Parts: sequence; structure tokens; C-alpha cells
Amino acid sequence: MTLPSFRFAPSPNGALHLGHAFSALLNARMAAEAGGRFLLRIEDIDTERCTRAFERGILEDLAWLGIRWEQPVRRQSEHFDAYAEALERLVAEGLAYPAFMSRGEVRAWLTEDAPAEWPRDPDGVPFYPPRDRGLPPRERAARIAGGEAYSWRLDMAASLERLRRRPTWTETGMGPTGDSGVIVADPAAWGDVVIARKDVPASYNLCVVVDDAIQGITNVVRGRDLFHATSVHRVLQDLLGLPAPSYHHHDLLLGEDGRKLSKSRGDTALRALRDIGATPGDIARLLER
Ligand code: GLU
Repeated sequence: MTLPSFRFAPSPNGALHLGHAFSALLNARMAAEAGGRFLLRIEDIDTERCTRAFERGILEDLAWLGIRWEQPVRRQSEHFDAYAEALERLVAEGLAYPAFMSRGEVRAWLTEDAPAEWPRDPDGVPFYPPRDRGLPPRERAARIAGGEAYSWRLDMAASLERLRRRPTWTETGMGPTGDSGVIVADPAAWGDVVIARKDVPASYNLCVVVDDAIQGITNVVRGRDLFHATSVHRVLQDLLGLPAPSYHHHDLLLGEDGRKLSKSRGDTALRALRDIGATPGDIARLLER
């Protein structure tokens, strides 16, 4: 029998704030209540913004909160080979293509050539232009051989055709409009997502599904801001033959201005609260609802 397995997966690109404390404590509590495992994963593929110093700070903050996790901690930057293997499978199956356009070229295409009502993804980002999806294989190969920079994008239409039916997932939390229970994924709303970036041979969407499978995660507990991205995760899981965990998207803590807390804006770092004398008990009480 597989034990229920939960994980907290922070990116070490800043200090943890109250929102992370809420997510980590909820994860650990749900794992304990289920008699399951609680794992930690450091999502550090963005080697420009992620640092070991932030990672050390995160581990210290979590330990201070009284959270205990299994060893070893999985650090994504040590597993690029696993992501490359998943990418190669998608490429070999004709489900991914090299996307060569620079940001400037995309912007120019959107202003000059895009049809009216060109779609945007749930984050508000316009879909990638269709140009590279249809490039002849010889032109692709020549441009890659010529050293042109490119990312890999999932051919969403081809992927959905391959799967034949839209994936679903079990939601034990809630989506932005209150949806829970069995959710029918809407991956087409994302268009051709990036699965490997120009600078790193991986992407959040690809790593998260590969790692959840390798770590044997059965229950993903994370912020509601990732609810829509779950549609992409479910497609990748089905294409790669990976098991689908159940998902629990929780409320986001909002700052006084009503926006979600953010590391980059330096919101309420746990460390700062600790420095002014807050105890782990104070934090837990603050987050109770
Ligand atoms: N690394 C992501 C973050 O810090 C979390 C990803 C996830 O839980 O799936 O927002």
C-alpha cells in the first residue's frame, strides 16, 4: 500500500513569508492527519534567482515553525537529467517543437500580424504565434545547428488529440470560482506552454510533474494561484504515463492592499517576525482560520 505523501515545494529566490508558512503548516498537518509522509522539494531550476543562502534560510524558517520533513530533500537543480529525459520523450513523440522567436519578435507579431481576438492564457499572456509550430523539420534542424536560441513548447493541439479526452483531477480544496470535486481540466486555455526554457533545459510545469511522480506524491497541497496550471500538469502526466495525485488548492493570504503576498516585494518575511519576538505559536495562531 502506498502511504499518502505530501510535499512543500518552495523556490529559494527570497525569504519565506506568512503565505508560505500557511502552506507549509497546512501540508504538514494534512500529512500528519493522513498518517502519511511529508517531503520537501527545493524548486531551484532558476539558477539566476535561486541561491543556497535563501535555501538555508527556508530550511531554518521551516524548522523554527516546528515542521519536520523526510530526508533527503530533493533539489531540482541536481536532476536536470530527469527533466531532459521527459522532454526527449515528448519531442520524440512529436508533441513538442523548438520555439525560436525572441520576446521582441513575439511582441512585433502580436501588434502587426495577430488576428483580432488573439487568445491569452489564464495568466493573461498572449498565446505564442503559430509560426514555429509548422516549421519544416529541415529548417528546424538547420536553425538549431546554426546556434539559434530556442525554447521547447508543447504542441497542445497535438497533445490533446493524442490523449483523446480531457484529463480530470480530484480537487479537495477549491478553485477561484469555488469549484471542487472532480474537475475537468482545460489545458487548451494555456496554448503551447513552454516545457524547457532557453536558458535552462527544464520548466516549472515539466519539473513539477516529473518530481511529484519520482517522489511518489499522492496529495498536492498548494496555493490557489496554481489551480489553473493543474490543467497543464494533468496533460503532461497523462502524456508521460505518470500517476495523477489529488490536488488541494488553498486560500492565498492577501496583503493589506489585497494583493497576494510576494517574496519579491519583501512581504512579511517570517524572519522579520521572528526578529521582533514572534514565536512559532504566534504564527500558527495568526494563520488559524
Ligand atoms: N515552487 C512553487 C512556488 O514556490 C510551488 C509549486 C507547487 O507547489 O506546485 O510557488
